[in-house]
Amino acid sequence: MTAQILIVEDEQRLAELLADYLKASGYTTHHLAEGGGAADWIREHEPALVILDLMLPGKDGLDICREVRKFSRVPIIMTTARVEEIDRLVGLELGADDYVCKPYSPREVVARVKAVLRRLSASPDTEPGPITLDADRLRVRAAGRETELTAVEFALLQALFRSPGRILSRAQLMDRIYDDHRIVSDRTIDSHVKKLRRKLSDLLPEQELIHSVYGVGYRYEHPPAA
Ligand code: CA
Repeated sequence: MTAQILIVEDEQRLAELLADYLKASGYTTHHLAEGGGAADWIREHEPALVILDLMLPGKDGLDICREVRKFSRVPIIMTTARVEEIDRLVGLELGADDYVCKPYSPREVVARVKAVLRRLSASPDTEPGPITLDADRLRVRAAGRETELTAVEFALLQALFRSPGRILSRAQLMDRIYDDHRIVSDRTIDSHVKKLRRKLSDLLPEQELIHSVYGVGYRYEHPPAA
């Protein structure tokens, strides 16, 4: 049976375009043009994934996401036309699995759908990734080697590592690393992440562990087990 994707989107043409791309990738789709019945539909039909628009007639995406999380862990990709909304959405910790900014290319959304579904089938609970953190010695081990991190780099990696697949905004990362983040800027986080990535790529040259999410923050992905 093919995975069914629910598209909750009030822009008819966009929904149709997205459905065409998803079908071409082997998914079946269902479309709802308004938010009111979305949670009930999800409860009844248990789709494999939901692409959920933020601004909808009936009930908005935020409320739907909250409602769905009370009974289901179905992956949700939120879409919004306002890039400045994304940081706020991530901060609300609604339990969405990914966010996409409009206008988007349907191809990009299909790639995100595949990535989210792949991530779920390779859950870190069952398939531990190849890196190990040693908090006492501020070291990270991978592929039989290890490297030393600064306290800040270690805290960053730990925060990301503990929420694989989740986007953490720069503000969330700062909260977890510094007691007083008035003294650091977004650039500071970026520069620590840059150094951290360099050290990780020395250990695992072929693997990209920390991904940038444009305009939002960072996400750690467990690499496939070797
Ligand atoms: Ca809309």
